Amino acid sequence: METIFKDEAIVLRKSPVGDIDLSITVYTKQTGKENIYLPKGQVIKSNLITVSEPFNWFRGVFRHIKGKLYLQEIDSFRNLALPITKDLERFYTAFDINITFNRYVIFPDDRFFILLKKTLYYLSQDSAPHIIKTNFIVKLIYLSGIFPQLDKCQICNVKINQKNFGTVSIEKTGCLCKDCIMKNHQRYPFSLIRDINTMKNISFQKLKNINIPKSQLNKIEKFCKVYLSHHL
Ligand SMILES: [Zn+2]
Repeated sequence: METIFKDEAIVLRKSPVGDIDLSITVYTKQTGKENIYLPKGQVIKSNLITVSEPFNWFRGVFRHIKGKLYLQEIDSFRNLALPITKDLERFYTAFDINITFNRYVIFPDDRFFILLKKTLYYLSQDSAPHIIKTNFIVKLIYLSGIFPQLDKCQICNVKINQKNFGTVSIEKTGCLCKDCIMKNHQRYPFSLIRDINTMKNISFQKLKNINIPKSQLNKIEKFCKVYLSHHL
């Protein structure tokens, strides 16, 4: 059976098949992660040679035939790979974002698609890749439905504030108050949950106004990566 549909996609990975064909992994808005087979995709004259680069966004017509997905037509395309790969820090950031996305986003969900699209778009424009990356990972945790509970102690239910804050527990998916913290719990500072919460709520447009030092962003990213690998 053959089905034809229109969709938007972002290229996550590109791999050669033999000497002339190509296979790309994309995340589409409607159907999520897909592998697309591009016959003669490696040929220099192919009109898909640029479109199929990782980080690029396109809208097109897809054809599903006998379990394989093909790209019939490109309606529009935005070359995000070009501005991203011009700067080494941006490139490494985008590469890391794509790997994290590919690892943790499994099911189709247009909210994940929009998160990735906005992240790569802002990354292609912005000069602060570390802010974009931290924002991406915090929002990824939120959209995955595993965001830690930061306002209440996970053991005694008391409301958490700066004074009674003990730590945030990865295993218990939220904060612990000073009375409930045990010796074996790893200690994280209150500033960590305050800044994670800020990142969760901030819009992409306002990211440029954010005033969190790079060293703190690195700590948030590290915490979030451990958190993601523990829960997903
Ligand atoms: Zn408690």
